[in-house]
Amino acid sequence: AGSAVHELVVEDVSVRFGGVQALDRVSFTVTPGSLHALIGPNGAGKSTCLNVLSGVYAPTTGGVRYGDHDLTRLPQHRIAAAGISRTFQNLALSPGETVLDNLLVARHRYMRTGFLSAALRTPRSRREAAEHRAAAERTAALLGLDRLLHSRVGELPYGDRKRVELARALCAEPGLLLLDEPVAGMNHGESLRMEQAIGTVQRELGISIVLVEHDMRFVMGLADRVTVLDFGRRIADGTPAEVQRDPHVLRAYLGD
Ligand code: ADP
Ligand code: MG
Repeated sequence: AGSAVHELVVEDVSVRFGGVQALDRVSFTVTPGSLHALIGPNGAGKSTCLNVLSGVYAPTTGGVRYGDHDLTRLPQHRIAAAGISRTFQNLALSPGETVLDNLLVARHRYMRTGFLSAALRTPRSRREAAEHRAAAERTAALLGLDRLLHSRVGELPYGDRKRVELARALCAEPGLLLLDEPVAGMNHGESLRMEQAIGTVQRELGISIVLVEHDMRFVMGLADRVTVLDFGRRIADGTPAEVQRDPHVLRAYLGD
């Protein structure tokens, strides 16, 4: 029942904030079902790029295409409707509610079968409620959250909460998932679990993932392809092995 998985084409995208050229004619293509990493030093333009892809900012010039959809100037909700989902910061979760309730709220929001119709308890709404619950439980199990379904989100350790955020984004059943620094602030064990969770999502769901990351090492074991940004420009693009030995990349990271 998930969204179709399309090729994403980012073409010559520029974004300017006052005097800052945050992105300068950046292009890359994300193959359907692949994990594409966007890496680079702080201030390189990675988050700006993700914000363009999810409709938070419109590019100054250039375009974004997802299959037959031209996303270039679409608002966030239209991009979400095209099957593109992203994680937001912790505030998107309700800390006083359980993991299961957070996932169910996300599913109801995305699937547009509100609590009102559920409250009428028609046979159809009851069947849909059971389907939502089964889907939320499957997503939780995929990310190793099955034993935490009835824990309050606010009482979970940081690493688990970040996996709940990931699960929440997956409740929209996207074809393309956008992740901005999913392991920022995590300890080693938490990073490993997140890395496993992301790998599992890609393998099991077959969706595309664009992963923004500052730490080059983290993406090397996960990514199919890597685009490297520095000062808003694309300085390299290739397989992890290719970009890892690229002199421009080494210079950008040594200077960081
Ligand atoms: P990264 O995620 O790679 O660290 P960003 O995309 O956040 O980099 O930022 C790229 C550049 O654009 C930086 O110089 C940053 O200060 C600037 N920038 C980002 N967002 C804004 C904004 N909303 N207003 C003004 N400048 C911004
Ligand atoms: Mg950033």
